[in-house]
Amino acid sequence: MLAALLDLVLPRACAGCGTQGLGLCPSCRALLGSRPVGLVRPSPCPPGLPEVAALSPYQGEVKRLLLAHKEKGQLGLTAPLGSGLAAAVRVHSLGAVLLCPVPSSPSAVRQRGHDHAMRLARAAARTLGVEARRLLVPARAVADQAGLTTRQRAENVAGALRATGVPGLPVIVVDDVMTTGATLVEAARALTAQGHPVGGAAVVAATRRRTV
Ligand SMILES: [Zn+2]
Repeated sequence: MLAALLDLVLPRACAGCGTQGLGLCPSCRALLGSRPVGLVRPSPCPPGLPEVAALSPYQGEVKRLLLAHKEKGQLGLTAPLGSGLAAAVRVHSLGAVLLCPVPSSPSAVRQRGHDHAMRLARAAARTLGVEARRLLVPARAVADQAGLTTRQRAENVAGALRATGVPGLPVIVVDDVMTTGATLVEAARALTAQGHPVGGAAVVAATRRRTV
């Protein structure tokens, strides 16, 4: 009876695998703590894509954890996902860097109730002892990327971002997922146009068939 009541107030199944318990289970936590797959490249690789490092392929438990964080606001996942992102950032072995998240549209942030990429950037920055800064802002509205072809995605996001801030440390663009790479190309373009040196990009997960 008490357990049933607690389940109502404390739904604690692991968002990665569904195991009942205390939230993120040890094996899913270990997945986020494992060695990054390293540099990944989408196929086709869009021109202008910086070097992208990923922790994991976008599938299975990691995919479900990212969706639970982004769409369901399971903020207990921010820290473990953020340290996984930090491991991907380290692949670039650049030393002092600035982490800059890919911005979501204001309407998406309103709908979700949080800015998932900024949260992950901050968590990764804490792990690395560096700073996360919002250097990119939407320059115009874009259509939802879901359901678009690679080419349509590239056209949809071209010129969609604007960078701010004074150039300094190399910037690593961070996001939760890379699909076609179109958004990362646009992020790198906007940062470079503002004079920021772009050291690379890092994501928690990249679509598997595009891993090299
Ligand atoms: Zn699990």
